[in-house]
Amino acid sequence: MPEINERPKGVSDASEYDVIVIGAGPAGTVAAMYLADAGANILLIDKESFPRDKICGDAQGRKAAGIMKELGIYGEYERLPGQKIYGITLSSPNGTVVELDVEKRNKPAPGYCHTRIVFDNFLFQSAKKRCKTRVFNVTDLLIENSFVRGIIGINEKGDQEEIRAKMILGADGGNSVVARKFNLNTNPPEHFIVAIRAYYKNVEGMTDRIEIHMIKSLIPGYFWIFPLPNGEANVGLGMIVKDKNEKKVNLKEALLHEIKNNPLFIPRFKDAKLLDEIRGWNLPVASYHRRCFGNGFMLLGDAASLIDPLSGEGVGNAMISGKVAAKTALEALKKNDFSERFLKRYDKELWSEIGDEIKTNYRLQKLGKRFPHLIDVLLMKAKADESMRKKIEELLPYTGGRKKIGSFEFLKFLGLSWSTKDYEDHEEELKAETGG
Ligand SMILES: Cc1cc2nc3c(=O)[nH]c(=O)nc-3n(C[C@H](O)[C@H](O)[C@H](O)COP(=O)(O)OP(=O)(O)OC[C@H]3O[C@@H](n4cnc5c(N)ncnc54)[C@H](O)[C@@H]3O)c2cc1C
Repeated sequence: MPEINERPKGVSDASEYDVIVIGAGPAGTVAAMYLADAGANILLIDKESFPRDKICGDAQGRKAAGIMKELGIYGEYERLPGQKIYGITLSSPNGTVVELDVEKRNKPAPGYCHTRIVFDNFLFQSAKKRCKTRVFNVTDLLIENSFVRGIIGINEKGDQEEIRAKMILGADGGNSVVARKFNLNTNPPEHFIVAIRAYYKNVEGMTDRIEIHMIKSLIPGYFWIFPLPNGEANVGLGMIVKDKNEKKVNLKEALLHEIKNNPLFIPRFKDAKLLDEIRGWNLPVASYHRRCFGNGFMLLGDAASLIDPLSGEGVGNAMISGKVAAKTALEALKKNDFSERFLKRYDKELWSEIGDEIKTNYRLQKLGKRFPHLIDVLLMKAKADESMRKKIEELLPYTGGRKKIGSFEFLKFLGLSWSTKDYEDHEEELKAETGG
């Protein structure tokens, strides 16, 4: 990270801050911490006061861990009340269940489930130790000579206020005011997922693995059960918006239907108690490469549509975008250049880091949708063959090798190393190749 040695020249004295970060979720807090550590004069704002809830599956994997280690907050993170995760239980549409581990139990956990109330508050408090924060609901942006020069909104007293800065970072989530202002929140429905979350107690058979259940009517969406401390579980399901609309699925009804009628879940939920209202939220996914910069601003995390299209995992990429955006903002401050031409480097660097994995996972998502029986084949093989299972364990997402699962080697290992068009052109061959 470049340090700020001196204030950039030629910038209007009316700027109160170098950078205003809008949104104190994983993307915004990470950006704020990197910026503050480099000496930038920043303001981190959120419309909510913390702790606050965020609808999520509550799972955090290795990407998030890597960023927290760099920021020196991982030790504290590990001591938060949470559930260590050592593996994944997968089930296929025909009900084949396979338990996969990514790490031995005597090793540090490769992943965690912490509720977002706990996790986001921890990130917020960590950022608050390093920079100024305020409760502030952004309703509009201050734009001068086609450059964003600040924010307009409602402050903690309920009064309208303007705050100026040399640039702003829009880390304000799936309904980003900043993305909307520039008409950048327009993913087509095949690049949006909608998902719902329910908290349950007393679900039987919980382990230290997250559970992903591929149910035919939802594919490539899925049903999840993620373990939490105190015998609680985060249960939910998500679907691509286009599929949900076409199939006219009501997600809440679908969740309750599976719990009541799916043979895998009937015995496990017989004494389970729903703890809270079932709530939903949208996930802009990175199969759509959204423009994430402009004169005087960058978009981060969900505001930049960075969620993995296969797993729905967004925290890791949000935090990576926070780091890359902070680096770019520091360079912009040094050069005193906040133009979209300069900030384009953010898009380039971010996508060179996450792009390959996104591309591969999007291909896998489409493949799963087109050939759901392949998931049956894969899991049936894994169940029957220990060496196959071990191989998959080495490549697992979420808690394990996210990079490896996106690698050519992995696809080759699955016998699926073709382009999407190839899959379509070679359906019969593909069936023969996989025994489907
Ligand atoms: C049901 C569901 C399950 C999911 N499960 C997982 C999972 O298990 N693991 C995973 O990695 N990802 C998961 N995701 C995705 C993940 O939640 C997001 O990708 C992640 O929260 C993105 O972080 P962010 O910082 O970009 O945005 P957010 O976490 O949404 O934070 C945005 C912040 O901006 C603030 N804000 C919004 N508007 C304004 C405004 N006008 N003014 C000021 N502040 C504002 C909000 O209050 C919020 O604090 C899931 C998502 C959903 C919906």
